[in-house]
Amino acid sequence: MPTSSTLISVCKQCNAWCCTIVKPPVTKQEKDTILQAGFSDHFIQIDENIYQIQAEDQKPCPYLKKDYSCEIQHIKPKLCKIWPVIPRYKQNKRGYIIIKCPLYFHLTPQDIQQAKNEAAAVPQEIVTQLWMISPEMKEKYKRFTYEEL
Ligand code: SF4
Ligand code: SF4
Repeated sequence: MPTSSTLISVCKQCNAWCCTIVKPPVTKQEKDTILQAGFSDHFIQIDENIYQIQAEDQKPCPYLKKDYSCEIQHIKPKLCKIWPVIPRYKQNKRGYIIIKCPLYFHLTPQDIQQAKNEAAAVPQEIVTQLWMISPEMKEKYKRFTYEEL
């Protein structure tokens, strides 16, 4: 993956779009790992064993620091780790897309393959929750083009 300084510089120019628009659903285990590491609780439960990071509308994720780095980088949720690769279901089969945000152009084919491999392990209920989004949110996703992997 790109170095953290590249990541921060690219994402700063992008104004942390994904960390502002997408509030990732997480498993209970992911939430517990973050809380047990001593970080603040910014989760709400949205389903059995599924939680979501909460932030005010149009405000960035509360774990995003002022320098645009992630406060929980080493234990951040899997969906954050694999971004801009996103798992989804198409005709009941697991598939993957990659969002062509500015970070995309800094990724190697190996980075993308690794993210796709990790995306394969994202639980089905997390993928389902991720795509339960409003039409307004779908419009926001169109800021960048994407391709199927
Ligand atoms: S959308 Fe891409 S470039 Fe923008 S903040 Fe997210 S990872 Fe960085
Ligand atoms: S946990 Fe970190 S990477 Fe994920 S949305 Fe929040 S700030 Fe961004």
